[in-house]
Order: sequence, then structure tokens, then C-alpha cells
Amino acid sequence: MNKKNAVEIVEKLIKIYPDAKCSLDFNTPFEMLVAVCLSAQCTDERVNKVTPELFKVYDTPKDFADCDLETLENLIHSCGFYKNKAKNLKAAGQKIMSDFNGEVPQTMDELITIPGVGRKSANVIMLEAFNNPQGIAVDTHAKRLANRLGFSKESEPSKIEKDLLKVIPKEYWKDVNHIFIWHGRNICSSQSPKCDNCLLKEDCLNYRHK
Ligand code: SF4
Repeated sequence: MNKKNAVEIVEKLIKIYPDAKCSLDFNTPFEMLVAVCLSAQCTDERVNKVTPELFKVYDTPKDFADCDLETLENLIHSCGFYKNKAKNLKAAGQKIMSDFNGEVPQTMDELITIPGVGRKSANVIMLEAFNNPQGIAVDTHAKRLANRLGFSKESEPSKIEKDLLKVIPKEYWKDVNHIFIWHGRNICSSQSPKCDNCLLKEDCLNYRHK
């Protein structure tokens, strides 16, 4: 794919979803970090149901660093993988307290040193918490869209991200982080994409007329 085609597709999606934004609720960078860690293998809706109660009990890096692991596990139980997520969140609080003076760091290199924060989560945190997109978070929707629309033939998220960044200019990164997810959720689902209702039919390698 060349840059011109890439920008055309991105601009079509921006027109379709002018209000696309992150659907996780948060008030601080650390709350964003917690929410994004909880959202692994879980819906944003579920996370938004859990975090208000969670943040009443534990809200800051220090709270999480000092938390009782079993209490934390109970609070996040319904998000799935709760033992692992609780362990990582406590360790994340400790790391931020010990290495970053209690503040969520504002660079990708520093963010990915925090337990439970990979490149995808770091991308989301840089964009949503600091309004400073450093790349494109490749989740399951972005991966599917990137493949179907011909941005990338790769299956590994880091390689897909590289392919996307080659052809999508930086001024679009912020929007792309949201519009792929919205199109994936609304129209281009994994099992039964609504191709006949999709405005990207002509651009799509996977268009199936029903
Ligand atoms: S045409 Fe179908 S497969 Fe292609 S992007 Fe649209 S919904 Fe997805």
C-alpha cells in the first residue's frame, strides 16, 4: 500500500467515525494505566464497571504498591486473568514509586519497563493520558483491519504497527488508534463482517458480497 491510498482509507474512516475516541474511563494517567492493563482480554465496558469501585479503594501508584493482593484480586475479579493482572498492577505501583517518583513516565521506553505494560498499552497511555501519540496500538481490531484493508500482511502486532507507520503520516496516528477499533466493533467483526454496509468495500481485500 502506498501513502496516498493509506491516507484515503484513513480519511474515509475519520468521516464515518468523527467522534471515535477511547472508551475507557479514567481521570489520571495512572488510572489510564490501570484501566488499559485491566482491558487485556476483557471488554472496555466491563473495565468501566469495575474501575469506579476499584479506584475508591486503590487509586494512586502508592495505593497499588502497598495494596493487599487478595483484596485487589477480588476487586478486579470479573475482568478475567485477575491473579496475573493483580500481581502486575501491584508491581506496577511499586515500580512507579521506586523508579519514577510516583508519576507515570511519559516516554515509551520508560513505560514498557513497567510490569504489565507492553508496547500496545504504552501506545494507548501515551495517546490518551498524555495526548502524545508515539505509534499505533495494534489490538485485535487494528490487526484485523490492517490485514483486510491491505496495510499489512503480517500477523505479529509489532510488525503490523511498523507497516502502518510507514504509510500513515503522524498527524493521523491519533485518529487511527480509534477508528480501526470502532470500525472493527461496529462493522468489520471477525466472524461476520457487515460487508454490504461497509463504505470501504472498494478498498478491501476481504470484501465478501452476500
Ligand atoms: S468490506 Fe467487509 S471485510 Fe472489508 S473492511 Fe468492510 S466489513 Fe471489513
